[in-house]
Amino acid sequence: MKGLWLLLVLVAVANAERVFVGDQVIRVNVQSEEDVQFLQALEAQQEWELDFWLHPVSPELPVDIRVPRSSLSAVKEYLHAHNIHFTVIIDNLQELLDEEKAEMEENQMKERSTRSFDFGAYHTLETIYSWMDTLVAQHPNLVTKQEIGRSYENRPMYVLKFSTGGSKRPAIWIDAGIHSREWVTQATGVWTANKIATDYGRDTSLTSLLNTMDIYMLILANPDGYVYTHTNVCHWHSNRMWRKTRSKFSGSVCRGADPNRNWDAGFGGPGASNNPCLDTYHGPSAHSEIEVKNVVNLIKSHGNFKSFISVHAYSQLLMYPHGYSCNNVPDQPELDSVGKAAVQKLASLYGTSYKVGSICKIIYQASGGSIDWSYDVGIKYSFAFELRDTGRYGFLLPANQIIPTAEETWLALKHILEYVRDHPY
Ligand SMILES: [Zn+2]
Repeated sequence: MKGLWLLLVLVAVANAERVFVGDQVIRVNVQSEEDVQFLQALEAQQEWELDFWLHPVSPELPVDIRVPRSSLSAVKEYLHAHNIHFTVIIDNLQELLDEEKAEMEENQMKERSTRSFDFGAYHTLETIYSWMDTLVAQHPNLVTKQEIGRSYENRPMYVLKFSTGGSKRPAIWIDAGIHSREWVTQATGVWTANKIATDYGRDTSLTSLLNTMDIYMLILANPDGYVYTHTNVCHWHSNRMWRKTRSKFSGSVCRGADPNRNWDAGFGGPGASNNPCLDTYHGPSAHSEIEVKNVVNLIKSHGNFKSFISVHAYSQLLMYPHGYSCNNVPDQPELDSVGKAAVQKLASLYGTSYKVGSICKIIYQASGGSIDWSYDVGIKYSFAFELRDTGRYGFLLPANQIIPTAEETWLALKHILEYVRDHPY
């Protein structure tokens, strides 16, 4: 009997995968400034272990909260007591996670037996890295894979560089997955890289662009976080809902900083937390996260980036600087009109509707963000996407939406790229 218990304990430890059985995601219909304040109070307290997928900022914006099963009745009581209305959008989070995992495993077997790569599926870091080698091998005159440094846990960070020659040509930066749980962004990055490689020489517009400019893509901007969101036989712990890096900080049991609050742009200001246990922890200092520092070093040493695009999910937004301040940036009218034209192109494919605006005005004040940094160092065409959806699945967008999401996003990206090509500065 004792032996059996030991065995059970060992099995439990070896599979320390965070489970979300009975967890719900609720959408709160915010009606007043008062509601916002109650929700902010709710967010500030930690005992219910709430995970705000969308933060309370204004009566115009919805708030999505993942509520652990153990806190459901307390939270619902709190909301009822304050007369705040909500709906349950995900009834049992674990069911969605199980489906996602089963689909991934099924696809893995299929890919192994057919030696193929399905762009409409989610993949592990290992698979994406080896797919990069395949892409480079298929397009040796266009694509190279460059290691820009290592992550906190010593994983290589790879950039795919699309270049037809020259040295330090004007360049475009695209990164995805800086928040690891936003899986549709990494998948969209993979599809997009393949699209660029295969369209070169066929699509006249993209071809002319690549004849004068380079494109750099960092598809896994937070490799440690990404690995942590996957169930992995080599690692004991995993959590599909992980957003941050995996750094350790002295004096705290909590790990990871929010790599999109860590840039040297209004660092430590509103919309970032100094509590290492929160998802928006800005880290001990600007660029403390090696994943951020590696990108900063590359951009600075290159010195000729003309556009910087970060891809996030979810909410269907196309944003420009600033996040740390709500004052208009000098290029606001131009960025706004480029953004609006881009989302029109995006919507033309499947009718997906996006909003356009500055980060601060369209979502919330958030300091230390990547595109604020890039804009402030002189990269005028700095944009951030929030891809599908608007909350039905949130971070758990079903894999059958990867390709449609990537296809429509490409139309917006291409518009921005062409605009940058045609407006040198
Ligand atoms: Zn994000």
